[in-house]
Amino acid sequence: MSIDELDTTSPPPCPSPHRSIPSPSPPPTLLPPPTSPLPTPPSPPRPSPPRPPTTPPPTPLNPSSLTSGCAARVLRERCPACFGLEEWGRSLRDGGDVQLGADGCFSFRHLRSVGDGPISYDSSYFVSKEKVAQVEKRINKAWKKKPAVFKPAIPQEALDACQESWNAVNEKKQKTNTKHFDAGGVFVMTCRHSQVLFLCDIDTPGEQQKYIVALLEEVNSLLPPRATILQAYNVGCVTDHSFNLFQILTNGFRERVSFIINAMHAFGHRWVCQLVYSPRCRGGAGLSDM
Ligand SMILES: [Zn+2]
Ligand SMILES: [Zn+2]
Repeated sequence: MSIDELDTTSPPPCPSPHRSIPSPSPPPTLLPPPTSPLPTPPSPPRPSPPRPPTTPPPTPLNPSSLTSGCAARVLRERCPACFGLEEWGRSLRDGGDVQLGADGCFSFRHLRSVGDGPISYDSSYFVSKEKVAQVEKRINKAWKKKPAVFKPAIPQEALDACQESWNAVNEKKQKTNTKHFDAGGVFVMTCRHSQVLFLCDIDTPGEQQKYIVALLEEVNSLLPPRATILQAYNVGCVTDHSFNLFQILTNGFRERVSFIINAMHAFGHRWVCQLVYSPRCRGGAGLSDM
């Protein structure tokens, strides 16, 4: 069979929405030993001894909170292992439904002077600049409102230190020349198997929050409504608290996303931050370096 005859366009099959998690079989009940076959003189009836208590079967992982659903075809194609789930809504304390990684790469460049070139098509991997700009507008609007009263998961002093190092390394530090380049870097979101899900151009001198928000919302728009996401990000601690203070994410999404720090970046944070946000200290994050 030649490679042309292979059907490379068909998506992985969508899992049946009706298959449920098999419930574990109950443990065998302990019965009293069989009675002796020898005839015994009749004796007055005695109350039967109480049966030993049986151990209740372990309950499956939040079975009542899981709902059937199917991720969009584009995600199932990009990683069937992550997005081929048939039930969604796992607790974020157990790692959520999917674990994603995100980071900016400033080795990518696109000269402003060359324009778009003769080949023009919309890559399904790239989130458009217009969408990212809309997210930026929303974030700026949210930041102008009064922040909610919310106690951070780590001491405020540690959070401030993480914020300061983030500003120094990312937002304020000019990593690319936006005068010459209309894309001075690329922001990437992957699954935990390092399969690229989405990208967007970085068109600011440093990395900004709009990129992670735009890509997170893009993935979320293609997942079932109750899907939960454990998101690794190099400044996950600051982003997490920021989302609690300001309504940046769309309604109902904030509760379904939790943040950790990429394993390789975690050591750059205070130890108290690592205790909460390092993937090695977070249930369900596993050992993958997202
Ligand atoms: Zn994957
Ligand atoms: Zn931190």
